[in-house]
Amino acid sequence: MSLNKKEIIFNGKLLDDKFYQDGFDVFELFQQKHGYTYDDLIMLPGHINFSADDVQLGSKLTKNISLNIPLVSSPMDTVTEHQMAINMALLGGIGIIHYNNTIEEQVQEVKKVKRFKNGFIIDPIVLSPNHKISDVDQIKVKYGFSGIPITDNGLIGGKLVGIVTSRDTDFIKDRSTKLSEVMTTDLYTARANCSLEEANSIMKQSKKGKLPIVNDKGELVALASRDDLVKNRDHPNATKDKDNKQLLVGAALGTRETDKQRLAALSEVGVDVVIIDSSQGDSTYQLEMIRYIKRNFPKIDVIGGNVVTTAQCEHLIQAGVDALRVGMGVGSICTTQEVMAVGRPQATAVFKCGIYSSQYGVPIIADGGIRSIGHIIKALSLGAGAVMMGSMLAGTEEAPGEYFYKDGMRLKKYRGMGSLEAMLKGGDQRYFSEDSKIKVAQGVSGSVVDKGSIKKFVPYLIQGMKHGLQDIGSPSVEMLRQDVYSGKVRFEIRTTAAQVEGSVHSLYTYEKHFI
Ligand code: GDP
Ligand code: 5GP
Repeated sequence: MSLNKKEIIFNGKLLDDKFYQDGFDVFELFQQKHGYTYDDLIMLPGHINFSADDVQLGSKLTKNISLNIPLVSSPMDTVTEHQMAINMALLGGIGIIHYNNTIEEQVQEVKKVKRFKNGFIIDPIVLSPNHKISDVDQIKVKYGFSGIPITDNGLIGGKLVGIVTSRDTDFIKDRSTKLSEVMTTDLYTARANCSLEEANSIMKQSKKGKLPIVNDKGELVALASRDDLVKNRDHPNATKDKDNKQLLVGAALGTRETDKQRLAALSEVGVDVVIIDSSQGDSTYQLEMIRYIKRNFPKIDVIGGNVVTTAQCEHLIQAGVDALRVGMGVGSICTTQEVMAVGRPQATAVFKCGIYSSQYGVPIIADGGIRSIGHIIKALSLGAGAVMMGSMLAGTEEAPGEYFYKDGMRLKKYRGMGSLEAMLKGGDQRYFSEDSKIKVAQGVSGSVVDKGSIKKFVPYLIQGMKHGLQDIGSPSVEMLRQDVYSGKVRFEIRTTAAQVEGSVHSLYTYEKHFI
């Protein structure tokens, strides 16, 4: 039975279509004088005709990089180093290595992510028969692996004479023993022109952990590792390069002359995307840096920002950014709005920048202020291609730093990059106060509660996002955006009382567990 709403007369009054229209479309909503935060808004449920497991979360991070899971870890020194970046990428998101460190330190972090997983390893670590087991031990400590091909001259391109794996060296007490005495010389190899599939099937059949790839002269040209087959099988959503199967990783940098050296060094180790890290991105320095990168490093995608207005977006888009980072003064550790009197409530900033940038095919990243899965879903629905998080991830095992106990709680340190503490370590470039004698902090230093490993926490976020999209009635992030822009997804503003009603209330005590 279908109701003909148009003809219903109630108490003598004709109720037309408008009366039955629930909520507002997103354009009506943002025509107000107010700036809205995520908490101010609520989306009304739609019709469900698909299962939560069918929801597709794939989305664009930049013009050229897509993610299976639209989540990004923030370039902060208490959030993203190689452990976070590796695991974010394995799960389908991406991590951006912070730059509150030396160029060499940041490069090493990027290198560890790029080396973690491969198709063919085209620059394997190689030793010669004259090296010692202790050399293998050092490689194990530095890079984490111990399967080393041995060539006559100890270099790639040299004649392959053996291979050393942990099974050859594990039980040998004298670590000064030469590799020539322990290496395995009875080798399975593959020819230089074989495909990755062929190499993989040789490894599966031979049950060997490493497969050296040699040319017609028997010289080593590459290496394949069984471990990569397992990583590939266990992480089908991983964010990886199509050709060499390495994980994608980003790095932050500033707009100083020294950042050009940083960029060159990052490019050498294969960084995929850089973020120009500034709290106010609309500056001549940043515009010049964007042009410089696009001119000299066309293969690296550039994320500009931070921005919160369409005018800022316009300038950075004209300079050539591949994505924009949106948010000012909304981070959990952030005092910018308080101290500088500038910024914008995040829901409005994401919507305005998103709708503007979408006309140029430039994705935006909603950065900061994410406290729940609901906030992630709102950011995506308002136009974000991906969501960047700091505090949500800072308490996880993969974040840098050690856990400590306070008042019976297991905590990890989390600090703003504009906090005095981080600025003293070099983080002041983001806040234009590098040369200032008096530093004005735009962030605080604090702690967050232990959240366990992101290997469990991120899948929990993913499942929550899928259920959220299902409730809205949009089976993918792409459809969600279309449904919002077309007015199919309806919004309402929540009064303060409605926000209280929509949170846990009326309980004497309660516990909130993430997983
Ligand atoms: P191993 O058995 O101790 O050598 O180490 P695993 O097999 O557990 O780890 C090897 C992992 O390190 C694979 O994912 C490789 O892709 C990666 N890897 C990156 N660079 C190299 C390299 O130069 N040599 C080796 N052996 N592995 C590398
Ligand atoms: P969160 O996810 O913790 O709410 O916010 C993280 C974001 O806050 C970062 O990605 C970055 O944009 C921003 N941020 C990091 N440190 C500071 C700071 O000290 N001050 C300000 N204003 N913002 C910060």
